[in-house]
Amino acid sequence: MIIILKDNPEEKQLDNLISWLKSMNLDIHFSKGESTTILGLIGDTSAVDIDLINALDIVEAVKRVQEPYKNVNRKFHPKDTVIDVGGVKIGGGSFQVIAGPCSVESRDQICQVAESVKKSGAHLLRGGAFKPRTSPYAFQGMRAEGISLLLEAKKQTGLPIVTEVMDLSQLPLFEDVDVIQVGARNMQNFELLKELGHVDKPILLKRGLSSTLKELLMSAEYIMAGGNERVILCERGIRTFETATRNTLDLASIPLLKTKTHLPIVVDPSHATGIAHLVKPMAIAAAAAGADGLMIEVHNDPAHALCDGAQSLTPEQFDDVMNAVNAVLPYAYKG
Ligand code: PEP
Ligand code: MN
Repeated sequence: MIIILKDNPEEKQLDNLISWLKSMNLDIHFSKGESTTILGLIGDTSAVDIDLINALDIVEAVKRVQEPYKNVNRKFHPKDTVIDVGGVKIGGGSFQVIAGPCSVESRDQICQVAESVKKSGAHLLRGGAFKPRTSPYAFQGMRAEGISLLLEAKKQTGLPIVTEVMDLSQLPLFEDVDVIQVGARNMQNFELLKELGHVDKPILLKRGLSSTLKELLMSAEYIMAGGNERVILCERGIRTFETATRNTLDLASIPLLKTKTHLPIVVDPSHATGIAHLVKPMAIAAAAAGADGLMIEVHNDPAHALCDGAQSLTPEQFDDVMNAVNAVLPYAYKG
C-alpha cells in the first residue's frame, strides 16, 4: 500500500500517522520527491482501513500495491535510485561501463587489462576470483589471491572493483571490494541474499539463467528487505530453445524493468551472447534501449583465457565498442 501525502504535510499529523502505522507492525518506506511525498507500507496491510487514512487532512490518496515486491517497486520510490561507487554514479541518467576479464589470472593480466579498459573510458573494473564453472575440472578462480590482485589493480588505476561472491563463507574476503556481484546461478540463493541485505556495499544482482523478471525483482527485494538499498540489476541473457548463442539477450527487459523498479539496470552482452563479435551490436542495442550501463568481458589474450575466451574482447575491440556506444547514447530511449 502507498499513501501519497499532500504538499507540506503538517508535521504533528504526519508523526501521528507514522506511529499509528508502526503500531500495526508495518515498516514505512519514506520517499520524498520534488512535488510529492510517498509513504510505502511494508508488511501485512490487510487490517489497514484505507477509508480512515484517506479521510486524513494530510493525505492526497491511498493505493494498494498489488506486486509482491515493495522496496524495489517504482510506486514506492518514483525517482531513479542512484548508486555511488567510489564517486562513480550508477543510475539516474548516467551511463557506466564495467569491464575486465572473466577471471583474474595473474597480476600482469589484471593490471594490463585494467589500464587498457580505463584508457578506453571504463568506470569500473571487473574480474572473477571465485568462478562458478559448469565443470568441476575447469579453472575455479584464484579465490583469495584473485581478490588481492584486483585490489592491486584498483590501487594502480583508481578503478573501483566488482567481483562475485559465491558463498556466505567468502564474505570476509570482500571487505575492500567496491561492488559485490551475485552471479546468475546464485540469484535465488536466498540465504546469501538475506546476508547481503546487511552488507554496507552495492550489490550487482545478475538475472538467473531461467528466471523471470518478477523473480529477479523478488531477489532484489530480499536484499533491500534486509536494509541494503544499493542494488544494481543485471540482464545477462536467459536460456531459451536457441542454441546459436550462449543465451538470449532479453533487450525488452530494460524498458520493462524501468517501469517496474527504480533500481539501475546494466546489461552484460558478453554472457548474453557468448560470442565476441556479437558484443558490439548488443552493447549498442542495450545502450539505445535505455540501460544504465554495461558489463563487458575484456582479456589481453582472449585465445588463451582460462575462462570465457570466446566472448572476451581484446582491448582494441573494447575501445571500438566504447566509441560506438558513446555515439548512440544521446539517442537512448528514456521512457
Ligand atoms: C560472470 O559475470 O563472470 C558470470 C559468471 O556471469 P553469470 O553469473 O551471469 O553467468
Ligand atoms: Mn565470464
